[in-house]
Amino acid sequence: MIYYFDNAATTKIKPEVLNAMIPYLSKEYGNPSSLYSIGRNAKRAIEDAREKVAKLINANKNEIYFTSCGSESDNTAIKGIAYRYKGKGNHIITSKIEHHAILESCKDLEKKGFKITYLNVNENGIVDLNELEESINDKTILISIMFANNEIGTIQPIEKIAKIAKSHNIIFHTDAVQAAGNIPIDVKDMGIDMLSISGHKINAPKGVGALYVKQGIEFDKFMNGGHQERNKRAGTENLAEIVGFGKACEIAKNNIENHNKYLKELRDYFISELMKTEKNIKINGSMKNRLPGNMNISIKGVDATKLLLELDKKGICISTGSACNSGETTPSHVLTAIGLKSDDAKSAIRVTFGENNTKEEIDFLIENICKYIKK
Ligand code: PLP
Repeated sequence: MIYYFDNAATTKIKPEVLNAMIPYLSKEYGNPSSLYSIGRNAKRAIEDAREKVAKLINANKNEIYFTSCGSESDNTAIKGIAYRYKGKGNHIITSKIEHHAILESCKDLEKKGFKITYLNVNENGIVDLNELEESINDKTILISIMFANNEIGTIQPIEKIAKIAKSHNIIFHTDAVQAAGNIPIDVKDMGIDMLSISGHKINAPKGVGALYVKQGIEFDKFMNGGHQERNKRAGTENLAEIVGFGKACEIAKNNIENHNKYLKELRDYFISELMKTEKNIKINGSMKNRLPGNMNISIKGVDATKLLLELDKKGICISTGSACNSGETTPSHVLTAIGLKSDDAKSAIRVTFGENNTKEEIDFLIENICKYIKK
């Protein structure tokens, strides 16, 4: 039996998503670029999925580009804008708590002469809008601030950031890999120019993602070859996964309110029940502006990695940081940025809930955390 509480790392594919994919892994195997009927069927399926992804964030269909993952979407956004607008300026603003897909893209650009400002966050994990304003100069071409953080779940003031970017005529990108499908997103209302999403965080398979780019914004491609994705991303499309991704977006869109409410209920149940027994717990990140399914806590005196391995023996899956960090012994850059001392960062666990979780499972998790602490 698996008790899965690591939905920020990845999610289980929904049966409806798998069912939607199966025909495109069997009889509908045409290449979407082929002109005969099974090719045209494949093309139609991709365009149908594009419409569904667009609807999730209230974008237009022709503003969605399929990619292989959230990391590719982030890389394309950062580097695609940097190279396209380098004649206008070489300055990019981001934050210290971004995912490595953003941070490493920025580091790569630094080696090529770009200047990057990494904004601080406060103890709740939120960027300071005054610092953002003050960082802007006449060479700033892009602001990229994540919608919600993958470790502590904090949600940034996206609309305010978008407004600041717009008032300075700067492109605004947001990494919404953790936010999409969990909280409502409206790129038009919120003033977002570019946005990254990943399939496997919203019950679609691993290996598919999308980048939203507002109509009229130019960006350089980094995959050369065929003319797929309106000549912006070469390579034969990942047909079945794109279809599954579309289905997952459709389900997420139709169910977002209930999903959000249920995850919040599970999260609040977990923390309140745990705190009844364990007093030495510190919640990391804002409780007010937080993803519904995210809880990140430091348990005083506990080695989070040892706890994780002990829970694993019972079939319980949690995380000590972002999945991409596992194996690293240095404290997470996110927890360090919100001011945690090394010991508190090393005693931090991330528990992220999904629709499959139940309160009974949470009771089992709490029982085993408490047992370990006592031991
Ligand atoms: N951005 C954020 C905020 C993430 O949480 C992740 C994955 O954990 C990514 C980007 C990368 O997404 P992918 O795993 O699809 O490359």
